[in-house]
Amino acid sequence: MNKNTTVGGRVSSYTYGEFGSEMTAQALYDKCMALARNLWWSWHPEVHSLFRDLDPIRWRQLDHNPIALLHEFTPERLASRASEMVLHSRINYHFRRLKEYVSERRKTWGIENAGVLGAFPVAYFSAEFGIHESIGIYSGGLGVLSGDHIKSASGLGVPLVGIGLFYTQGYFKQKLNQDGWQDEEYINNRVENLPIEPALGADQTPITVQIDTRTGRLLAKVWRMNVGRVKLYLLDCDVEGNQPDDRKLTSRLYGGDVRTRIRQELVLGIGGVRALRALGIRPGVYHLNEGHSAFATLEAVRERMQDDGLPFDDARREVVRQTVFTTHTPVPAGHDRFHRDLTEEHLGPLRDALGISHQQLLGLGRVDPHNEHEDFCMTVLGLKMSRRANAVSQLHGHISRRMWAHLWPWRVDEEIPIGHITNGVHVPSWLAWQMRQLYDRHFPDGWFQGMGLPEAWQHIHDVDPGELWETHNSLKNLLLSFVRRRVSRQCRRRQESDQVVEAARNILNPSILTIGFARRFATYKRADLIFQDLDRLDALVNNPERPVQFIFAGKAHPRDEPGKRLIQRIANLRQDPRFCERVVFIEDYDINVCRHLVQGVDVWLNNPRRPLEASGTSGQKVVLNGGLNLSVLDGWWAEAYDGANGFAIGHGRSHASDHETDRRDGLSLYEVLENQVIPMFYDRDVDGLPHRWIKRMMNSISTLAWRFSAHRMVMDYTRCMYVPAAGGLSCDMDRR
Ligand SMILES: *Cc1c(COP(=O)(O)O)cnc(C)c1O
Repeated sequence: MNKNTTVGGRVSSYTYGEFGSEMTAQALYDKCMALARNLWWSWHPEVHSLFRDLDPIRWRQLDHNPIALLHEFTPERLASRASEMVLHSRINYHFRRLKEYVSERRKTWGIENAGVLGAFPVAYFSAEFGIHESIGIYSGGLGVLSGDHIKSASGLGVPLVGIGLFYTQGYFKQKLNQDGWQDEEYINNRVENLPIEPALGADQTPITVQIDTRTGRLLAKVWRMNVGRVKLYLLDCDVEGNQPDDRKLTSRLYGGDVRTRIRQELVLGIGGVRALRALGIRPGVYHLNEGHSAFATLEAVRERMQDDGLPFDDARREVVRQTVFTTHTPVPAGHDRFHRDLTEEHLGPLRDALGISHQQLLGLGRVDPHNEHEDFCMTVLGLKMSRRANAVSQLHGHISRRMWAHLWPWRVDEEIPIGHITNGVHVPSWLAWQMRQLYDRHFPDGWFQGMGLPEAWQHIHDVDPGELWETHNSLKNLLLSFVRRRVSRQCRRRQESDQVVEAARNILNPSILTIGFARRFATYKRADLIFQDLDRLDALVNNPERPVQFIFAGKAHPRDEPGKRLIQRIANLRQDPRFCERVVFIEDYDINVCRHLVQGVDVWLNNPRRPLEASGTSGQKVVLNGGLNLSVLDGWWAEAYDGANGFAIGHGRSHASDHETDRRDGLSLYEVLENQVIPMFYDRDVDGLPHRWIKRMMNSISTLAWRFSAHRMVMDYTRCMYVPAAGGLSCDMDRR
């Protein structure tokens, strides 16, 4: 009962061959380029495989960048390769699908549910966007979340444009040296190899925005990127007319000092609003995804004063009504704070235009407007300039209300106007193709469009356990070959002996329980928790009947020494005979590494110090592919875990000190592994199937996949935040 809609890409390889294709080589090339220039391809694995078939080796070497790949072809060579590989009809097919998708006039969810946004879209501001590994303008979770958000907005047809920064160098590439110490390498993004083009204004000329500060003028040009139906606009300070230093202002993500930071945020917020105006876009809603972009609200107020002749207070009220704000972290250092002098230097001219005093301006970024010692905080500005604010999980909602309660001293906690919308992941981007095919065969027609609803996913319980297990294991094998390739490459780069490289080629064993841990190496995420008791871990991983192996990956911020020491500690275990075959570290964690890991592991380990993980999303990607979460009851897992859809570390309690919390969580981690995870994984029937485990995989998929999808998330944002902010009917956000 093969009834899915997207396997067409495969059909062509054995039917209606290449005859009748009168397309010229140039036309074929143009179609491929058109496909490569809309990021729609990035969440269609069948289009990946089309590009890969053009040249599998270069495809990998070029970081899966189709534009760079096509630049290596002449139209003639492409045409001959297409004939050889029988690609013509696949190219035509996907090109037509893309065209239909972009010009979709039929009813989308957005047309039915977000009609009020019609000609006045949501302007979604974020400092980073993680869309694909070949576009280095993200560092981690926040960026990937923004990327997933705009992809789901595209899929649902919610009118939305993205605003971000174009980083010429992006975030760093990670390499570990002989000693396991992280080295950072910055590589220039090559504009000609990226799917971006200059954004044009009403007069069809490229847009440049300018921002005056007390110490000079900043210029930024604007790039446009097509992400399905969504346009993403990226500001870039590398333009003539800027001071040499300022030309590098947007070259690195989260690099530089606090002055760089405020200037980047000035460009993102104020530059972003000016870019929208130059583009002729009038947003119905401003969505500040994290505080970085909160200056946007001040520029929006200035616009209202100028356009409608409103006084400051009235214009501010109008902008507040239209603005929604999402806060992403309970870690204090995660909230930008700027000294008053820095604020005045950068906002002075705008403040003049707003007609407010320095005191008044500072007051907007202070909990207590009259406290001369308080720095200007972007989160406070975001909270004061928005009517609707949200945290990113239920637990994070509680924590955030407590954290910011002093902004509303006359209210009790429950009345603090910060709700929550739990993060989710873009299913088409993270779901493995093999799993998708399995679901397509067993789920009802059209299930994929309804991926944000619970109904379809219930059918996972109808799937034959053996088939689910087999699919999972083939993905696990793909992961292990990826790991071997990467680890042997790392060894070769460090010029290690042939023997070591050879060993790396055979590292890890597909029949062993495989646990993944990959994320930023911020210390609160406690990557080393499992290493608290090395003897106990030794007994565990080297148990002859029921061994365990671990795959680690992740970057530390370049200035985070403790984070780098954690990496070093784990990476150097490869020199310890007890762990060298059981613990591997993959360098340069990015979307590509993440995709392999979340699609292939048996178990995903997450042990942050509660309640510091606002949500976490990597575990949600694992759910889609049949992996099980083993996690502290923090972030999304605190509301997701039901006792039968994964495993919990600890009981969600807090302890007197961090030290004590770490000790107890470590003990709990060992206990859960020894008493629950490992026995269940190795409990097999005569056919080698772990039935209780497979049942848990099914529970995980049916209870979690829809709830923690970005489609569900964007539907929630639309109903509870966007529509009310645009003046439509209000919805009651579940706050508890
Ligand atoms: C999904 C993802 C993350 C988020 O990970 P969490 O630690 O769960 O928040 C970070 N980095 C990359 C590359 C990702 O794809």
